[in-house]
Amino acid sequence: MAGRNHLFVPGPTNTPHEILSAMHVPMEDHRSPIFPKLLSPILEDLKKVFRTETGQCFVFPATGTAGWEVAMTNCLNMGDKVLIYRFGQFGHLWAEAAKKLGFDVEIHQVEWGKGIPLDHLETRLKEDKNHEIKAVLATHNETSTGVTCDIPGVRKALDAANHPALLFSDGVSAIGSIDFRQDEWGVDASIAGSQKGFMLPAGLAILGFSQKALAAVDNSNFPRSFFSLKDMAASNKDGYTPYTPSTPMLYGLRKALELLLEEGMENVYARHHRLGEGVRRAVAAWGLQTCAQEGWASDTVTAIVVPADKDARHVISTAYSKYNISLGAGLSEVAGKVFRIGHVGDMNDVSLLGAIAGVEMAMLDNGIDIKPGSGVAAAIEYYRSSAK
Ligand code: PLP
Repeated sequence: MAGRNHLFVPGPTNTPHEILSAMHVPMEDHRSPIFPKLLSPILEDLKKVFRTETGQCFVFPATGTAGWEVAMTNCLNMGDKVLIYRFGQFGHLWAEAAKKLGFDVEIHQVEWGKGIPLDHLETRLKEDKNHEIKAVLATHNETSTGVTCDIPGVRKALDAANHPALLFSDGVSAIGSIDFRQDEWGVDASIAGSQKGFMLPAGLAILGFSQKALAAVDNSNFPRSFFSLKDMAASNKDGYTPYTPSTPMLYGLRKALELLLEEGMENVYARHHRLGEGVRRAVAAWGLQTCAQEGWASDTVTAIVVPADKDARHVISTAYSKYNISLGAGLSEVAGKVFRIGHVGDMNDVSLLGAIAGVEMAMLDNGIDIKPGSGVAAAIEYYRSSAK
């Protein structure tokens, strides 16, 4: 189809041409004396995105799913109890991964559309007098439902219960896009992936660890090899990696960090908030609902509920085949009920207005009763009035 494909899935996201150009490099010797000049500054600059001065960042050649495994297998012991709230597909998959690794997983179901209930969490942690729970697994941004949780609130619940469990935060669709502060929020292990806020192809699991989490690695009896944090840390100390790194991905990451830090993290968060708010105004103008309930909306992805007699899959396929737009599908429990607009990474008002217009056309084609132009008009109004 002529023209460009408009990528509005919530990852992989659009890769800016500066990053693509930076990645277009010949292969090089990753044991050369100059390789540390590439890796060491990346690991330092990542700390500015994860907002940690006391912690440490690591990059594994893998994806976000592996990030869960790195955090759990390095900081916990075989069979440890972990607590997780399940309110979407990624929390579900994280719980499943923990089960497969042999952890004792305590799962609390939450209605999809809401996030971690802090009062419940605090009560549960207070009940756990023997401190059997060793980690709280918190999905910061549930990409399947477009829900953002209050991670500082999770830390407060742990502190109010005087509970020593580690706090793990899945920031795969949050870090590098919406507010995240590893040190200030007392997060022990935070997990990101390269293909969302970092605007790169998939292929890197990017993690931040607190000193408490790093100390836990020394006491962990969990078997690991490829994902050994100790091996990674030992090599990283001198600016190297324990196995062959993907150098183009590292060049891309270096450029991504430059772009993020040049814009400034506060500005990146504010940009995503404006983008998300414009989409929410469009949804309201269409007379539709978001999957996220009041107070839980994410600034990186919006899941939009179609009327009960319609199938969101048809909207997605029309959008793709007729208008060359890629939208996110509804996953698992919300399959067919929602479609998702990703507004994460390299995105601005006008690009996103293209998505809103394309979505309107695809909804109208599928008999969804909305007023043509209503969502676009609401978003335009908001973007114009809030533009600097
Ligand atoms: N966690 C969240 C919140 C995600 O959105 C995703 C992927 O979309 C993952 C984990 C899994 O990451 P990956 O697909 O990179 O393995």
